[in-house]
Amino acid sequence: MQDLCARTITYLRLSVTDLCSLRCRYCMPAGGVPKRDHGDICSVEELVEITQAAVDCGVRKVRLTGGEPLVRRGILDICQRISAISEVEELCLTTNGAVLSQLAKPLREAGVDRLNVSLDTLRPDRYAYMTRGGRLEDVFRGLEAAAEASFAGTKLNAVLMKDFNEDEIPDFVDIARRYPVEVRFIELMPIGEGNRTQFLPAEIVRSVCPDLRPIEGSGVARRYRSPDGRGTVGLIEPMSHRFCAACDRIRVTADGKLKPCLHSSQEIPLRGLHGEALRQAIQAGVAAKPERHHMNETGRSEAGRNMHQIGG
Ligand code: SAM
Ligand code: SF4
Repeated sequence: MQDLCARTITYLRLSVTDLCSLRCRYCMPAGGVPKRDHGDICSVEELVEITQAAVDCGVRKVRLTGGEPLVRRGILDICQRISAISEVEELCLTTNGAVLSQLAKPLREAGVDRLNVSLDTLRPDRYAYMTRGGRLEDVFRGLEAAAEASFAGTKLNAVLMKDFNEDEIPDFVDIARRYPVEVRFIELMPIGEGNRTQFLPAEIVRSVCPDLRPIEGSGVARRYRSPDGRGTVGLIEPMSHRFCAACDRIRVTADGKLKPCLHSSQEIPLRGLHGEALRQAIQAGVAAKPERHHMNETGRSEAGRNMHQIGG
């Protein structure tokens, strides 16, 4: 599938729930979110049907996200059925890691190829503060379980925040030096609860760790390696280096709306559509992909939803 800017769309980010076990301060409102009726969220069958239609249109990589995908009932069934679609070359999942220690092995067995684990701090007290009650040791246990379940290429995603984790940049980079993982620093976006005053340009990582050497980029990430590093460091800079020209993705929310762009309010309802009608709606969504986001000019995302309702 090509959009009107000649970008080839091969990547689907599929949200399976907007609920979460944590309430990160930049993502979720303090009071959490009201649980929706069962019928408001796509069923397992609908998620698989939408994925199959997207694959028929050219998608080859699928990422399951949320909310927290691991709290979705039937997550293993969803993984199994999507990984069984022969044209899906890579099935990935983004998680906060809180229950990963119990699910890493079953996820691997259900056909998940790769994990991204969100971890914004390496200090238990800060972690509990930012996630409003999360336990850092759960994430560490999850990471160990993932390694034991022979997940390779695991990425750690840390959102950079002024007066929160900027002093931990060297510690994160050290993880990428000692372990074969990619540590990715993500710029805080003015979406949902994201507080603009805490924004830090990801370039700061290079000034704090000047020995990082550039290596080949991957997707929307600029990448670096320490001279003796086993892993890599990635910078995801939606604000400082808009990467819209390289965007290869579409998103589908847990309530079945296709979002051509994370930061646009445009949504195409997919529920109730089947076969050719569903494929045409997906193609219409790709054709509607805006050239770029406008957060730098407006200071605000126009997504119309919080991140937990889209999936990042
Ligand atoms: N619950 C899962 C997790 O935390 O990995 C998946 C969903 S979460 C919405 C996906 C990613 O979006 C996480 O890495 C999170 O840190 C990131 N995120 C949420 N709000 C953000 C914001 N305002 N700016 C940048 N990243 C954000
Ligand atoms: Fe939940 Fe992920 Fe949002 Fe944190 S970032 S509240 S873990 S959805």
